Amino acid sequence: MGKALIIGCGGVASVAIHKCCQNSEVFSEICIASRTKSKCDALKAKLDGGDTKITTAQVNADHVDELIAIIEAFKPDVVLNLALPYQDLTIMDACLATKTNYVDTANYEPVDTAKFEYKWQWDYRERFEKAGITALLGSGFDPGVTGVFAAYAQKHYFDEINTIDILDANAGDHGYPFATNFNPEINIREVSANGSYWEAGKWIETKPMEIKRVYDFPEIGPKDMYLLHHEELESLGLNIKGIKRIRFFMTFGESYLTHLKCLENVGMTSIKPIEFEGRQIVPLQFLAAVLPDPSTLGPRTKGKTNIGCIFQGKKDGKDKTYYLYNVCDHEACYKEVGSQAISYTTGVPAMIGTMMVMTGQWNRPGVYNVEEFDPDPFMAALNKWGLPWQESFTPDLVD
Ligand code: NDP
Repeated sequence: MGKALIIGCGGVASVAIHKCCQNSEVFSEICIASRTKSKCDALKAKLDGGDTKITTAQVNADHVDELIAIIEAFKPDVVLNLALPYQDLTIMDACLATKTNYVDTANYEPVDTAKFEYKWQWDYRERFEKAGITALLGSGFDPGVTGVFAAYAQKHYFDEINTIDILDANAGDHGYPFATNFNPEINIREVSANGSYWEAGKWIETKPMEIKRVYDFPEIGPKDMYLLHHEELESLGLNIKGIKRIRFFMTFGESYLTHLKCLENVGMTSIKPIEFEGRQIVPLQFLAAVLPDPSTLGPRTKGKTNIGCIFQGKKDGKDKTYYLYNVCDHEACYKEVGSQAISYTTGVPAMIGTMMVMTGQWNRPGVYNVEEFDPDPFMAALNKWGLPWQESFTPDLVD
């Protein structure tokens, strides 16, 4: 049916590319382009032989001219950005210059400030509208599926949603004292930042890990979870009718938190460059280089993830509660595509979002977050492509 250019070839991209190849009716041709071409070639060698034609290319996605050249040569219907958040704007610029649709999984962050805001990407709205192309922002799990869950709850179960609690639990054990499940630099920037939640039309800021709750997750059991800022709070706060409070919680084990605190205390999580043996280095980038590569955690991770949203609001004048979640098993993911569940739960929705744009089911010129489109075809695709969801009308609540 169509062609996708996939930029980046790390943990998440590997899963999305496996899934595109399983879905060759939609993805007849893909080009994998990344900074390190040997990784693209190795993945192509693993997946070649199916119905999806695969090519590879080298690109530095910090450079718009290199991106434009690749897009002009391959002529994709959609560019799927699975590099790092730092490259979002250069890739969007190249899409504008070539009038090509754009999909990503994480909002733009400037390298020198850990700021999680959509403002830079939302600023492209008018230019994408004028160019007649779609940008779909945040099509991973959180953000991504969490926004689709919210749109689905709103469409089918509520007249108004008043509160949303997004709960992200990872009960996986990789056997290392400290490792991150996706890009270490991006992950540590996120969890060491101040927390915040949205209430009564404004942001309430908290210290990192200041608010802790225990939640008894279906199929996982009780886990400590901590309130974090997360990018979808910003878009859902605007896009969901009647919302009064929205919070995001993620589970962390004691060993992870103790290591993180210690690394913070000695300055290893800082993103301010320092002078080291005559050259500038960023401590967090150095730390990321010595930590285990998340894409190698697959064979050693056991256990499950459970990510979902609890909605409270009103239907026909009555109070209503609804919990939508997905449970994913690390070992089953590894068996299927050679990756652990964090890459899997992000890579599958990245493929689905790209499919939605490619098939025209989600196609509207401009820049949109996932919850602004009809959730039904995405929800059906989650069940079909490996992330079946479950629902409860009587869940435990978070106080
Ligand atoms: P990885 O570090 O495993 O992979 C990143 C890839 O991008 C690597 O192949 C890297 O190349 C490539 N890359 C980095 N910089 C450039 C550049 N300048 N030009 C070209 N390629 C580049 O990261 P993950 O796969 O773990 O994460 C990918 C994205 O997914 C991130 O943006 C992350 O924030 C997002 N994410 C979203 C989630 C969600 O639920 N929404 C959850 C988890 C992740 P090289 O091999 O040379 O290093």
